[in-house]
Amino acid sequence: MECIFCKIVDGKTEGEVLLQDKYVCAFRDINPAAPSHILIVPNEHLTSIEALSPDKIKLAGRLLLAVKDVARLEGISQTGYRVITNTGADSHQEVQHLHIHVLGGAPMKHGLG
Ligand code: AMP
Repeated sequence: MECIFCKIVDGKTEGEVLLQDKYVCAFRDINPAAPSHILIVPNEHLTSIEALSPDKIKLAGRLLLAVKDVARLEGISQTGYRVITNTGADSHQEVQHLHIHVLGGAPMKHGLG
């Protein structure tokens, strides 16, 4: 079965895409946990941070800088936001395509539990 995030990247299924370039795609989470909840994914299918390697340094850098772009597009650069990347079973990673959650738009609970 094809990866759902690969389908969004390739425009084969619906997704509210905010930005896309050579390396990454950012789209709205279907089940938002905050007023603003965006996912940033590499266009290339990589399962998690564990699949990153030094030859992917440009992609890794772009993923991180895309967080700033998304925050600006969402109007949350000044109010703040939380960045989470679930990796593997203990983190409860559900979709096996590397993704960065950007959450903001309202004050969050303290701590990371
Ligand atoms: P994680 O638990 O870190 O793997 O998070 C996966 C996230 O993907 C969850 O927040 C889901 O709501 C989100 N998600 C799953 N399917 C879709 C989809 N088709 N479009 C947008 N977000 C999705």
